[in-house]
Amino acid sequence: MTVQPAIIDGREVVGAQTLDVLDPSTGQLLSQTIRGTAEHIDAAVAAARSASHGWSHTSTLERSRTLRRLADLITRDREALALLESQDTGKPLSQARADADVAARYFEFYANAIESFFGRSLPADGGFVAYTRHVPFGVTAHIIPWNYPMQIGCRTIAPALAVGNCVVVKPAEDAPLSVIRIAQLALEAGFPPGVVNVVPGLGDEAGIALAGHHGIDHLSFIGSVPIGSVVATAAARNVVPVALELGGKSPNIVFPDADLAVALPTIARSMLQNAGQTCSAGSRLLIHEGVRDSVVSGLRQILARTSMGAGPDDPDLGPLISAKQRRRTDMVDRALDAGARQIVGPGDREVPAEGFYFPPTLIDGCDAGSEIFREEVFGPVVATGSFASVEEAIALANGTEYGLIAAVWSKDLDVVHAMTEEIRAGQVYVNTYGAGGGVEYPFGGFGKSGYGREKGFEALGEYCQTKAIIHKVTR
Ligand code: NAD
Ligand code: MN
Repeated sequence: MTVQPAIIDGREVVGAQTLDVLDPSTGQLLSQTIRGTAEHIDAAVAAARSASHGWSHTSTLERSRTLRRLADLITRDREALALLESQDTGKPLSQARADADVAARYFEFYANAIESFFGRSLPADGGFVAYTRHVPFGVTAHIIPWNYPMQIGCRTIAPALAVGNCVVVKPAEDAPLSVIRIAQLALEAGFPPGVVNVVPGLGDEAGIALAGHHGIDHLSFIGSVPIGSVVATAAARNVVPVALELGGKSPNIVFPDADLAVALPTIARSMLQNAGQTCSAGSRLLIHEGVRDSVVSGLRQILARTSMGAGPDDPDLGPLISAKQRRRTDMVDRALDAGARQIVGPGDREVPAEGFYFPPTLIDGCDAGSEIFREEVFGPVVATGSFASVEEAIALANGTEYGLIAAVWSKDLDVVHAMTEEIRAGQVYVNTYGAGGGVEYPFGGFGKSGYGREKGFEALGEYCQTKAIIHKVTR
């Protein structure tokens, strides 16, 4: 079996030790990667540092065109990348195709955006000329999760590269393959050696070596709250700024005048997409008492029809990524033990015997303070709650420590404005749901969902520092 390499300073590097990469639909070996060490991280950071001055002084036009070429290569290889991502993560093939398209869009969007990302001219009183410049940090570090490795990888590295940083990327051990492939395509696109480095490895080896490295200038992390806190602490020791995206417990909030024909399939998709292993999954469903029964029974019907299978066969629902993630679904048992009611879920259908499958699950009657209502399951599991007024809906929506996204389903503008005003979340949708495709929309958390903003023009600012230049004109 070919061992998938690290990409350091434009070269493919394999080491003495390897990591197994599993196929989540069987639990069997799919591939292997190098098990990157602290020494590989040192080499990658050094390569990025050496490349940094040259890349940050490359003309905006040339950087833009290089990003654009990478977008085109991702589009050229769309089918192969999608299949690789589907095999590695278990996600349905059509969702992996969408991820490849979005990955290409990030490079396209930032290739365009960078050409109109200007500094400001400041008031020039008293003979001063003053202006700001956007200056790249230098070497940016990126720790990537396994749920959307290609899409999230490109989401964070495209703006970092666009403004002139060199990147060191640590993909997740559970799904590293597409990120390695993107780095190979980056070389083909003409990024100079050292500008894009990828070191596969374990979180507590390569990951922590990168987060705590004195040679990085910025760290972007997407993953769990506890590890986010660990890496931010490691970076803080070196006074390295951090952007954290740590998931959520995002609600769909359904009012009596909602168009259920649109809402219900969208709500189902928001929890089934990538088997619920989505930071912005619609994992809570808050229903007005007046439509509670019709929403619950309508959703039950949709979920009961859901097909399950291996990602490349393109079912509605693939397996979870790993045995470890499947164990998190024990949360469902604890909720039922505590008195919640299963509308649909385990035991209601055949689930493939091999692999890490878990069926679509709807839990009703959840206590607002309960674990299943407040914590991420990261599986195809929705916890419901109900409300009788706008005030109750707001209190429930804001009743977790997270605040990533939310959706309000209503045609009443007064209700919609009251809700969008009060909901504490980085994105609020109205009569639709989903953060996936919209590369233009700033994305990030309130509260324990993290800090910093990815996507949109905001991400260009995330990966730059502002320098003010003040010139006293003496004649
Ligand atoms: P994790 O936070 O452990 O892993 C995310 C990334 O961090 C991976 O690349 C991993 O290798 C790296 N990492 C792990 N330990 C590290 C350390 N000590 N130092 C530096 N890097 C380290 O997440 P997980 O264990 O794979 O998943 C657990 C839970 O996290 C999930 O159930 C879910 O709730 C949440 N999660 C959220 C997202 C998201 O998109 N926000 C993504 C993945 C997981
Ligand atoms: Mn895998």
